Amino acid sequence: MGKKCLIIGGGIIGLNIAYYLLKEGHEVTVIDKGDLTSGASYINAGYITPSHFIPLSSPGIITKGLKWMLNSNSPFYVKPRLNSDFLNWAWNFKKSANQTKVDKAIPAIKNINLFSRDLYQSMQGSADFDFEFDRKGILMCYKLEETGHEEGKVAEIALKEGLNVKHLSREELKSIEPNVDFDVMGAYFYDTDAHMTPDDFMRDMIAFLKKKGVKFIVSEEVEDFKIINGRIEVVKTKTREILVEEVILAAGTWTSKLAKKLAIPIPLEAGKGYSFNVKKETGISIPAVLVEARVAVTPMNGFTRFAGTMELSGINECISKKRVEAIVNAAESYYKDLKIDIEVINNAKSGLRPCSPDGLPYIGRSNTVKNLVFATGHAMMGWSLGPATGKLVSEIISETKLSLDINPFSPDRKF
Ligand SMILES: Cc1cc2nc3c(=O)[nH]c(=O)nc-3n(C[C@H](O)[C@H](O)[C@H](O)COP(=O)(O)OP(=O)(O)OC[C@H]3O[C@@H](n4cnc5c(N)ncnc54)[C@H](O)[C@@H]3O)c2cc1C
Repeated sequence: MGKKCLIIGGGIIGLNIAYYLLKEGHEVTVIDKGDLTSGASYINAGYITPSHFIPLSSPGIITKGLKWMLNSNSPFYVKPRLNSDFLNWAWNFKKSANQTKVDKAIPAIKNINLFSRDLYQSMQGSADFDFEFDRKGILMCYKLEETGHEEGKVAEIALKEGLNVKHLSREELKSIEPNVDFDVMGAYFYDTDAHMTPDDFMRDMIAFLKKKGVKFIVSEEVEDFKIINGRIEVVKTKTREILVEEVILAAGTWTSKLAKKLAIPIPLEAGKGYSFNVKKETGISIPAVLVEARVAVTPMNGFTRFAGTMELSGINECISKKRVEAIVNAAESYYKDLKIDIEVINNAKSGLRPCSPDGLPYIGRSNTVKNLVFATGHAMMGWSLGPATGKLVSEIISETKLSLDINPFSPDRKF
């Protein structure tokens, strides 16, 4: 018998959960405070990233972060705040940034990424709906010898973890990306990765879910819950009360605010990023990370997207022109023939990544509220991890065998 499930949040995570719950025969409703057209799930770089197996909270980021904080053009920015949630998050981030914890996190991140990539691939192979899923790999392009050295060390770990990566000289780069004139020293090429066009996928997934009977409530914010005997009985908005059997909290960066209403701590910080689309021909056919600048470049359906910046300045979506310009300047300095027009810059968008302190998502049932499942905290990997999260949540709710060990993602874990 299917259960009556309410998913709070219709981003990439919420939609994937709806998809897999539907497949298991549950009755699904998605509620979102927005109109399902904007935010991180629409403006991201569309990478499917087994190559990104090192969490942000890793040794070295603290010193690098402190240096970057003094530079308004830097790709990473933390606005210090005397707010207990932020201070607690920052403390846990610092505690997580040690080699033992990172070594433990690497296989968990890699495995869930590979699982999710394969699920995207089977979804694409199914008759459900069509979408672009290009398995062209990713280039980690670097300009400086020192960066090449650091990337080499990452590549060694990748090889040990069974991921396929090779070094390319500038000349070799030219042979796989012939229409681009790179100003770089070299690159590491991971053939494990794939990419997609997020806006197209989100639109088509919503249409598919609606056609199959998933109910959408949009432009309505969940404000509170009614708990009876340790279970959520009712989810409340300004205008309605929704009776529920199972609740899935997939509200991205806003999840901690909602969890607070249930007295459950889910430490999250909003990691703001920006992106813009270049519609004229760039010649770029393979996604790339411009490593020193931390800029992501993705050839999408009809345009090339440039994305970057990790700005921890609280929940706000305002756009810093300076940082967008820094992305433009970086892109133009790696791709010699690239010239980005001012209108493109003026149309830049922002999105908030839900960042946990240790770089691992929260996926699992709550220990305190029986019919509540958390699915958030995916930070820079939310697009990649949508299907894996959706599938795991559907297995939790259906009480079937889990495809992966979800202990590392426990919402109750200690940092
Ligand atoms: C610039 C940039 C580039 C990125 N590139 C990549 C990439 O290449 N690959 C990758 O894997 N990831 C990438 N990411 C990260 C990825 O986009 C996010 O991790 C992902 O979109 C998070 O999805 P989500 O569904 O958890 O959250 P969101 O997309 O934020 O969705 C949460 C939804 O919950 C709704 N909501 C919140 N509160 C309430 C409430 N009280 N009531 C009702 N609804 C509510 C919100 O309106 C929102 O629609 C990138 C992010 C950025 C910003």
